[in-house]
Amino acid sequence: MSVFDAPAFDQHEEVSFARDADSGLRAIIAVHDRSLGPAVGGCRVFPYSNDAQALDDVLRLSRGMTYKSALAGLPLGGGKSVIIADPRCDKTPALLAAMGRFIDRFGGRYVAAEDSGTSVEDLRQMARETRHVSGIDGTEHGGDPSPSTARGVFIAIRTALRHRLGSDALGSVRVAVQGLGHVGYRLAALLRAEGAEVVAADVDLRRCQRAEAELGVRPLSIDDIVAADVDVFAPCALGDSLNAASIPRLRAGIVAGAANNQLHEEADAARLADRGILYCPDFLINAGGIIDVHFQRSGWSRSGLERSIAAIGERLEEVLRRADESRRPTSAIAEDLAREMLESARRAGETAPRCVA
Ligand code: NAD
Repeated sequence: MSVFDAPAFDQHEEVSFARDADSGLRAIIAVHDRSLGPAVGGCRVFPYSNDAQALDDVLRLSRGMTYKSALAGLPLGGGKSVIIADPRCDKTPALLAAMGRFIDRFGGRYVAAEDSGTSVEDLRQMARETRHVSGIDGTEHGGDPSPSTARGVFIAIRTALRHRLGSDALGSVRVAVQGLGHVGYRLAALLRAEGAEVVAADVDLRRCQRAEAELGVRPLSIDDIVAADVDVFAPCALGDSLNAASIPRLRAGIVAGAANNQLHEEADAARLADRGILYCPDFLINAGGIIDVHFQRSGWSRSGLERSIAAIGERLEEVLRRADESRRPTSAIAEDLAREMLESARRAGETAPRCVA
């Protein structure tokens, strides 16, 4: 398998593979870009059906992290790691320790955080082997960044509603949440607290039952959630949920969710725009988690965190305005904006005085 020829390869700085026979670890770490700082990004555990799928995921996700951190104005680069395993049964202490040693080999160029399939406890186990792990520092919400991610997506939904309908009052708004995990469940709770009607689906039926009992969320099947008659579709499961098959079925006028890499391919941005669906780019609106991790690393500040999460809404407004003016897809505009911010931060770094050891 050639990394350089992989479709998702985008001049990544480093891509490294690890296999540990004793623990069964098979993992990849990708560092996309460190112009702004160390490459911080989640460690995902997923039972990929083949190595090429895992490579594609880690390459796309690490590139997304570069853009996400740049757009959020953070001094962080983009990286990601994936473990090819089933998070429900394969995460043994030996496997997590081996992953910790793999992360340590990067000497801080890559710093791992929580992601789909990993918990704060898993990261604590990795941290026995390396100090290059984030999101375990037991802040007021215990290191888990997903409440901040959910808040950022919630703010984005309100921003998109204001842009589209002129009001962000949630009382008469219907939202479909795909995936009731760490982020999706909290997003549903925030929406319900403001009076929105929420329908949701999860492959894990217990999560639907809990959301129904605790939040008054109406469960739908995983097949029906995409076509739910709602104002907002919020993908909060895994990537690729917006594709040639699902987009024609959408009835929502707005798509805004936490999942990374929601668009299966670039053409999907145009498919959404052609149907008049306002797409809030994932790497812009799900930055709450990395913002949270940044504040855990650099000194906790509740007010700083809140300001940075609120800025997600302001940046989204700018993207929506530019997209209206240029009639280009929102995802292309957000990528342009991220590249602009990356370039200007790089230039500022070049002109800043350097420390001489
Ligand atoms: P999670 O693993 O806790 O939750 C995902 C949920 O989706 C699970 O409950 C799972 O059962 C469900 N699911 C899987 N396939 C599904 C399907 N086909 N239909 C419906 N439900 C399905 O993950 P999370 O931390 O909540 O993250 C959700 C998404 O947001 C991921 O793509 C993640 O990369 C992204 N994200 C998370 C954070 C964070 O802070 N946790 C930050 C940025 C982005």
